[in-house]
Amino acid sequence: MVSDKDIAFPRLTEAQIGMLAARGSRRAVHAGDVLFAEGDRGFCFYVVLRGAVEILERSRGHEHTVVVHEPQEFTGDVDMLTGRAALVTARVVADGELLELGAKTLREAVDEDAELGEVVIKAFLMRRTLLLSEGFAGVKIIGSRFSADAHGLRDFATRNAVPFTWIDLEMDPDAEALLRHFGIPPSETPVVIGREGKLHRRPSIADLARCAGLDVAFDPAEVHDLVVVGAGPSGLAAAVYAASEGLDVVVLERLATGGQAGTSARIENYLGFPAGISGAELTRNALLQAQRFGARITVPGTVVRLGIEDGVRIVTLEDGSRLRTRCVLVATGVSYRRLDVPRFREFEGAGIYYAATDMEARLCRDDDVVVVGAGNSAGQAIVHLARYARRVHVVVRGDDLGKSMSRYLVDRVEHIDNVVVHRGAVIVAVEGESHLGAVRIRNGSGEMHVATPALFMFIGADANTGWLDGCVDLDAKGFVLTGPALPRATVDTPRWGTVKRAPFLLETSLPGVFAVGDVRGGSIKRVSAAVGEGSIAVSFVHKVLAE
Ligand SMILES: Cc1cc2nc3c(=O)[nH]c(=O)nc-3n(C[C@H](O)[C@H](O)[C@H](O)COP(=O)(O)OP(=O)(O)OC[C@H]3O[C@@H](n4cnc5c(N)ncnc54)[C@H](O)[C@@H]3O)c2cc1C
Repeated sequence: MVSDKDIAFPRLTEAQIGMLAARGSRRAVHAGDVLFAEGDRGFCFYVVLRGAVEILERSRGHEHTVVVHEPQEFTGDVDMLTGRAALVTARVVADGELLELGAKTLREAVDEDAELGEVVIKAFLMRRTLLLSEGFAGVKIIGSRFSADAHGLRDFATRNAVPFTWIDLEMDPDAEALLRHFGIPPSETPVVIGREGKLHRRPSIADLARCAGLDVAFDPAEVHDLVVVGAGPSGLAAAVYAASEGLDVVVLERLATGGQAGTSARIENYLGFPAGISGAELTRNALLQAQRFGARITVPGTVVRLGIEDGVRIVTLEDGSRLRTRCVLVATGVSYRRLDVPRFREFEGAGIYYAATDMEARLCRDDDVVVVGAGNSAGQAIVHLARYARRVHVVVRGDDLGKSMSRYLVDRVEHIDNVVVHRGAVIVAVEGESHLGAVRIRNGSGEMHVATPALFMFIGADANTGWLDGCVDLDAKGFVLTGPALPRATVDTPRWGTVKRAPFLLETSLPGVFAVGDVRGGSIKRVSAAVGEGSIAVSFVHKVLAE
């Protein structure tokens, strides 16, 4: 039987080495040579021809050998393709000869030879899984489980697959000693400890991203073929198609790749996954697929403005940096609505959540939790949370769960013993000190006080189009109008006169700017629809580039 280690550390065949040798160069090496070190970017891929290469990691404060590569074996893990900073160091331990290929050349080789591609990519994915399961500590995040800032950092790390260790001020006996060692009072937490013990007090999300090596540098003078704004399913699908068809594509994402789908515990209706697939796994695979083809993805990268200068589209980020591009794909999806009750914002991230991933679910093990909403995303959250919580209170305005929830989910929800559905009910108050402690639920027969550390919100969503205000036509609810939905007068404007055609199916009122997925007016709010639209839009991008 093939073990995980066999998949992670395979030997290449003579033919595969020959194929790589034709693209790479031979390099004589000596014991002690460092091929790449933790924190390096843009490092090369090495196949051992003679000698041996040790892979080391130091995340636990001492050197630990992950593996020693021998002849016919190769170095590297997923970060070869993602462009993120290396988590490990590669050091030669026996004189010999290696084959050296740059990341771009490796990508081309993997594209050309499907069998080699499968061996290398499966090995990279399995190596990361083994590294994490064997105690790799990654970045350390120290903070209180009740702090919204600490939750924000952990949420960002989890959703962006940044390996990290969470040290809980309330629960971990070593936390205080560690803070004392660094001379930090608990009031200055959360704290992040990165490579070589570098410490960041109360870091922003951007600080954590830099510390984890997620940021990507861009040349402001370069004009890209396509900038995709938003890395949910629609943006990632567009990135895969665009990059695989040879376009220069950059993806800018505000918070986490995967978008809403990335927060789903299990997507059961996406074609090709009969047992369902978690949002996290779908995202991890899609991200690697896009990066394997050469798409560059940066997180966090919040776009605040879209403009046009001398016929080139300009995308401006929150930090003031600007990207120049021929085409733009708006894939910014939607955000869940908030409740209009006093103190609501105070508890966001500190007991009020818009996703029910494993991280949030574990936080409320054996407690009562409250879910507001009656759509499919609420249904999935209820099923997932019921496995951890003592009781799940579901608050729905109407009296029929089946109105907007799929039948299979309604059946499941109604058969779970620890789920209580409050029909015709609303939340009228949220209470607590620094963290949510209770909510008040009102229905026709009066008010109920539920002590809970977690309230999950799934009550409909608004389009993320604030950054597009005045740039492209939106419908009355703020969703982007495209193609046939645009007013007839659009084509009479001078900018359409210049291009001499009507807008393409997914094109906005601004030529060369497309909108796909949930953010588009009239879209079907499903993963498959978002993926389909992202893929289709790329064919129109080719047409615009040809103009
Ligand atoms: C919990 C949950 C479960 C779900 N389950 C299912 C399911 O089982 N099956 C199904 O078919 N559908 C499901 N859905 C719906 C599905 O996830 C969405 O239809 C789909 O994710 C839409 O994809 P999208 O790419 O259009 O937008 P989104 O997924 O919303 O992604 C948009 C991305 O854009 C980013 N963004 C927003 N503004 C900016 C900005 N200014 N700059 C940069 N980036 C920005 C956001 O951070 C986000 O990552 C679920 C949704 C949720 C919330």
